[in-house]
Amino acid sequence: MPFRVAVLFLISLAGLWTAEARAADLGERFCSAVTSPFDAVPERFACPADPQDYEVARLWLDAEVLPSDQGKEGTSVLVHQSRFSRLAVRFRYADGRIVQQSVQRGDYGPHWRIGGQLEFTPPYREVPVEQVTLVLDRLEAFGVLRARILTAEDASQQLSLLAVIVGACVSLLFLGALYNALLAIGTRRAFIGWHAAWATAVLLYGVVWSHLGVVVLPAIAGSLSARLGTLFATAAVAAAMMSVLAIVGRDTAPNWLRWVAKLGAAGSVAAGLLAVYPPPGTLESLAVTTGVLTLLNLVIAALLAGWGWATGSREARDFLLVWSVSMLALGGLNIVDLGHFLLGGGPQLAILIASAVQILWLSALVTVRLSRLRSERDAARAEKSALAELAERDPLTALWNRRGFMRRAEEMLVESEGRVHLLLVDLDHFKAVNDRHGHDVGDLVLEQVAKTLEGTVNGRRAAAGRIGGEEFAVSFRGTLDEARKLAEEIRRSVAALRFGGKAPGLSVTVSIGISGTTGRFNLLALYREADQALYDSKDAGRDVVTVRAG
Ligand code: GH3
Ligand code: MG
Ligand code: MG
Repeated sequence: MPFRVAVLFLISLAGLWTAEARAADLGERFCSAVTSPFDAVPERFACPADPQDYEVARLWLDAEVLPSDQGKEGTSVLVHQSRFSRLAVRFRYADGRIVQQSVQRGDYGPHWRIGGQLEFTPPYREVPVEQVTLVLDRLEAFGVLRARILTAEDASQQLSLLAVIVGACVSLLFLGALYNALLAIGTRRAFIGWHAAWATAVLLYGVVWSHLGVVVLPAIAGSLSARLGTLFATAAVAAAMMSVLAIVGRDTAPNWLRWVAKLGAAGSVAAGLLAVYPPPGTLESLAVTTGVLTLLNLVIAALLAGWGWATGSREARDFLLVWSVSMLALGGLNIVDLGHFLLGGGPQLAILIASAVQILWLSALVTVRLSRLRSERDAARAEKSALAELAERDPLTALWNRRGFMRRAEEMLVESEGRVHLLLVDLDHFKAVNDRHGHDVGDLVLEQVAKTLEGTVNGRRAAAGRIGGEEFAVSFRGTLDEARKLAEEIRRSVAALRFGGKAPGLSVTVSIGISGTTGRFNLLALYREADQALYDSKDAGRDVVTVRAG
């Protein structure tokens, strides 16, 4: 099942991918020129674009609009990247008229779109747009800039789709983070807490990258949100690593591997922090370093989880299966440049989708695993209490044994505030029964007497037990008179017992001693009284009931 989900997910990724495969590469499509920040349009452009020293200057990117980009509603430019201080997009119509639209750091105006895109669409006119020029001031890295020219219809369609996908991913991540956080608190499991932290980091990353953050804080538009995005992405990698470290415990994986994992996470955090405010001209190489470190971290995490799986951890197996999705996605991103694909959302969108699928999957796995654990625990508890009860039962008669009886008598004493009488019931001349009829018959007699006791006691506030070989006891809550009546009933019922073909003509009797005083909380004292009374019954010739007050 998980395998099928992974395949479906990859197929859907591939679908988005090929749909966008027509998009042209920025370098091939545009010509470039670099001027000082205040210069007017440069006279010469170099083709294809390969600008140098643009970081503190003004970069011009110029492209012809192809007929295939001139739609019924005109032409649009979508830019995905905002590490610059100002971007102006100039559209030149066929009749020479120029329209310019611009955004700058901290102010995207009406141009930001959910999905990390900036949209520039000039007013529709009868004459088509022939030329597009992007003017970028203080662009941090040409290599990470993505811009596309397409028909206005395509642009609006893609942007709607992007908004839906981003909205769905962000909602899933939000719910996933919340669910896992609550689950972690409820179950006190660290790795679920790290899942929640990871989902939160990816969620924040998604919110910032997709421009959703601009809705709340317009001022973060531009470089600041790009920096925050880098920070959250780094935090996500570290949280994922902590999660696998929490799953694969100290006693499972070797210490050196755990240290490599911690170093890997620290390294990726360090690179991420550096990429937040990169020294001029280092952003591109930092982006590559961060990518390589991320991959390295994934390999280490996979190794750790694999180790855990090999030593029998189910959580580690789940982790490996689920994370293989993002590993494949990220691995693919590093091999194939997704820059222009996925509706222009590029690797960022791929990561967001993969993470949303992952948090859903992780939540489901954790839920199933926990509910399975719970039912296993309930079964173990039931078994334990059954065993505990068994330990207090007499195997021959199924009455309480001495320990079980004493416990119940003690409880009864406390509950009834001392209004308890103890009856000791001893078979008369039982040794002779054994001698004459054999041990089997002796056992049968014991069983029958026990049944009689049980039957008499049943439905009354009383408990019966076998506390010695042929000695039984009943704790009874009530008056002395009632206790005496109960004892007489037992005595008569036992005397009336017959044992069928095994011992024709055999009958047995019991002598009973009753503790006479109430208001005592000491079971031992009651026992002594009843035992004394039992002696008296034996002395009196047996088959009698005696009460003895202490
Ligand atoms: P008394 O009237 O004075 O109580 O005489 P008694 O023979 O009943 O007392 P005594 O204590 O001399 O003998 C008890 C006998 O109970 C001895 C033993 O063989 C028998 N007995 C104890 N436990 C069991 C049992 O589990 N099965 C059988 N068949 N006999 C048992
Ligand atoms: Mg006896
Ligand atoms: Mg005895």
